Amino acid sequence: MNKRLNQLTIKDAVKGLKEKKFSSAELTRACLDQIKKHNPDINAFLTINEHALDEAKRADEERDNDSTAPLLGIPIALKDMYMTKGLRTTAASNVLRDYIPQYDATVVSKLKNAGAIILGKTNHDAWAHGASGENSDFGPTKNPCNSEYVPGGSSSGSAASMASNMAIAASGTDTGGSIRQPASFTNTVGLKPTYGLVSRYGIVAMASSLDSIGHFTKTTEDSAIYLNVTSGNDPMDATTTKKETQNYLEDLEKGVKGIKIGVPKEYYAMGLDGSIKKNIESSIKKLEMLGAEIVEISLPHTEYALACYYIIVSSEISSNLARYDGIRYGHDRSNFGNEAVRRIILGTFTLSSGYYDAYYKKAMQVRTLIRRDFDEAFKKVDAIISPVSPTPPWKLGEKVNDPLKMYLSDVYTVIANLAGIPGLAVPSGFIGDLPRSNRGLPTGFQILGPHFSEKLLFQIGHAFEQTQERRIYGI
Ligand code: GLN
Repeated sequence: MNKRLNQLTIKDAVKGLKEKKFSSAELTRACLDQIKKHNPDINAFLTINEHALDEAKRADEERDNDSTAPLLGIPIALKDMYMTKGLRTTAASNVLRDYIPQYDATVVSKLKNAGAIILGKTNHDAWAHGASGENSDFGPTKNPCNSEYVPGGSSSGSAASMASNMAIAASGTDTGGSIRQPASFTNTVGLKPTYGLVSRYGIVAMASSLDSIGHFTKTTEDSAIYLNVTSGNDPMDATTTKKETQNYLEDLEKGVKGIKIGVPKEYYAMGLDGSIKKNIESSIKKLEMLGAEIVEISLPHTEYALACYYIIVSSEISSNLARYDGIRYGHDRSNFGNEAVRRIILGTFTLSSGYYDAYYKKAMQVRTLIRRDFDEAFKKVDAIISPVSPTPPWKLGEKVNDPLKMYLSDVYTVIANLAGIPGLAVPSGFIGDLPRSNRGLPTGFQILGPHFSEKLLFQIGHAFEQTQERRIYGI
């Protein structure tokens, strides 16, 4: 099958542009046409960059002048949590519905300096609170693989933009799973980097000790290419690493022979859906066949992770959202939706005098225990394989009125954020055959590793990917 330009990976698009098989203007137009055609139904984009095509034409000129910028002319999408100078940034909330930032987030500057073309800003659960994409003040995003289903969240639009081939790559944020879970719901690769590897400066803060800035791509290799651009120290974010930047493509082809991969025994006792269990077991077998050594491990504090996460996340949210007072910017606080109000009330309670020790402080202590579980585990194994979501994607409307049910879907993802470790979600096939579309719903698993082990995660993910048939969805 001849791929349409908007279906290309970063790698193939860069190659095609270099060889002058097509121009960035053509590539960008293919993405914009796809957005025009499918966005009214999918609702992946909230704002389109009117200058995208002009910027693509400029990139074509720069190429003629021998520019070697790594993403020159590659059209990408940004979650609407990223500050973009002169381009509306809403956090998918009515509070910021007409807010135009004065500056670019560090990651946005890095992407622009690398030559990327910003197509627009993508939809998500308001303030990144949610796991289905339905909690946006601009309406839900639909799953392009089957539009009766949720695409996952909170980075719903970025994931959907990939699954519908509206963009070549897309940025997101992951505070408790918001990249990995929507990636696994849309047959996409999603990276949550180590805390502090990618700058948070200029990205709407959700919970500052958990927020990780990552991205969605069509392949693992593309994820490494993207991280090569976005990672590294930023003087504007004191929590970013001082470590020298690495070339994340370096170990990609090394395979998994001899690599020890841990399977936490606790992860099977957490309400895991039978279809997901079957799928992950077959993925583990594939990795074993490729030469990995599979080892059973224990992460004894796993059962406390979700409770611990929801106390910490609400506490930090209540503090971060205090700045939206309707005086300095944005509309007044009556514009906050129910989920934000719920978290502000909960977080204000857990931080209040008399309760702080019992809740926030206690949760932070448990967090240390969870982190130590991983320190111990990584003495025995190089990486860990885990489900992303306990269930396949669910139908729109199914959990939206039951916040607790929605929170439970985060059980496998929040752990990496609490420990600050990286997680790479890779597609691992399809579950069930749906009558309407005659194809199943996507699923994936995640590979977790020690802090700053992204290269190893890419190495494992890439090896696994070679065992998979890559299906391109028709839209
Ligand atoms: N679903 C989780 C929550 O609602 C994670 C959100 C995120 O990672 N931004 O908090």
